[in-house]
Amino acid sequence: MSGDVRQRYLMVIDGEQVEGGGGFRPVINPAVNKELTQVAVANREDVDRAVAAARKAFTGDWAKFGPVERSRVLLKFSDLIRENTDELARLETLNVGKAIAGAKAEVRGAANELEFFASHTRLTGETLPGSGSMFSYTTRQPVGVCAAIVPWNFPILMAAWKIGPALAAGCTLVLKPATATPLTAIRLAELALEAGIPPGVLNVVVGPGTEVGAYLVSHPGVDKVAFTGETTTGREIMKMAADGIKRVTLELGGKSPNVIFDDADLEGAAAASVWAIYYNAGQTCEARSRLIIHEKVYDKFLDLFTEKARKVRIGDPLDPETQVGSLVSTSQWQRVDGYVKSGLEEGAKLLCGGRRPEGLPEPYAQGAFYEPTVLADVGIKMRVAQEEIFGPVVTATPFKDEAEAIALANDVIYGLAGTVFTRDGARAQRVARSIKAGTVGINTPFISFPGIPFGGFKQSGIGRERASQTLDQYTETHTILINISDRIYNP
Ligand code: NAD
Repeated sequence: MSGDVRQRYLMVIDGEQVEGGGGFRPVINPAVNKELTQVAVANREDVDRAVAAARKAFTGDWAKFGPVERSRVLLKFSDLIRENTDELARLETLNVGKAIAGAKAEVRGAANELEFFASHTRLTGETLPGSGSMFSYTTRQPVGVCAAIVPWNFPILMAAWKIGPALAAGCTLVLKPATATPLTAIRLAELALEAGIPPGVLNVVVGPGTEVGAYLVSHPGVDKVAFTGETTTGREIMKMAADGIKRVTLELGGKSPNVIFDDADLEGAAAASVWAIYYNAGQTCEARSRLIIHEKVYDKFLDLFTEKARKVRIGDPLDPETQVGSLVSTSQWQRVDGYVKSGLEEGAKLLCGGRRPEGLPEPYAQGAFYEPTVLADVGIKMRVAQEEIFGPVVTATPFKDEAEAIALANDVIYGLAGTVFTRDGARAQRVARSIKAGTVGINTPFISFPGIPFGGFKQSGIGRERASQTLDQYTETHTILINISDRIYNP
């Protein structure tokens, strides 16, 4: 089943494959709950080496790459990702348990991301008039060495979201994938070298967040931290970055609302809403995990939704027809199941799911599969309505009018995404603008594309990825003031 998967994966530091001082740890395939391969783990000296290599490349070889050269190698890097789609998607599926169709789309998404940033390597400044004989101009300088720390739910995609802008801006990186899902990050660093990106520009270190990740974030050689992960971890990262006043961008958790008005195309909205929660088994930061439904259509919409949720094809992640694979680990399975139980204890009604699917063939019977689940009649203060479950579980809550819908949508600490379904154009605008979230879709569950800013309000994060404005987060504005009179200007 694991075919071309290597027996061991090494880290990439300064262009070399490195065993590291932390030994090896098993990488698990969660769909079969068995070891897939082994990966090298870093110790502190390895992190020091990676940061030093990134620093050397930043002021050395990489600094010689102008905008055109950076664009050229980014495009080559993107092409290599496309050429290796089958291998990368298969690795992602075997390591994360996700359905191969989604994994292929995510690999293409990673290539698209680099392509987008390849067209944003010319960082221009401004010419600004001052008073009297003074004028000034600004340039944008790369911020330096970036620590990029990414989660396990979209390993290759989240890595590309950070590599693209960092390289476009002329920065170098030390990338730390999640401990459980390091394989495609390692392959990305190898492909970067093949694309002609100099050694030391993209390094990958592997290891536990609280040790390797925390050491990297606190490292005096790191200028900026770009983090994606849980809100609780984001808080720790901010504290650790405070000592060095490091630049920090955070893409954190979500509990995104999906508001359905009574005039919506209910059939279409139900299909879209099923995708918006169950894609990647609900392990998606922008998962629309809270259905907020007008009371007039509450029962009808839930009937439509539940019928479709029951038909989601769950099983063999390598089968191209599969829509939902397994969760990332048995511990994530326990966490999700614990939330469902807590919802039921608090009075929610289980409409479907809430268990392991029956009759999965070998070798998947021991895998971390969880049925698409609907919890209805959920009050906004219940834990399942407030906390990020990060699994295939949606909650449903009725509303009476527009004001209540908006209040329910906003009554959480998160603000990453949202969707509004209605045929009333003015209402769609009013409600979308009132939802405190980074991105709100109107009559579409798709809310994230290259070029469109993505990020969170409130405790869902700081900064925006995927867009031209992202480059502001990887650059410093440098201002030069010029006195053009023939005398020294001395106020
Ligand atoms: P996590 O916070 O546990 O881990 C994320 C990364 O941080 C991992 O690489 C981990 O090893 C590292 N880490 C953990 N503790 C650390 C520490 N003290 N110092 C430095 N690094 C540390 O998150 P996860 O469980 O891997 O991922 C799921 C979370 O990611 C969810 O909350 C999800 O919403 C969020 N997410 C957000 C976005 C977004 O764009 N907003 C995208 C994907 C995932």
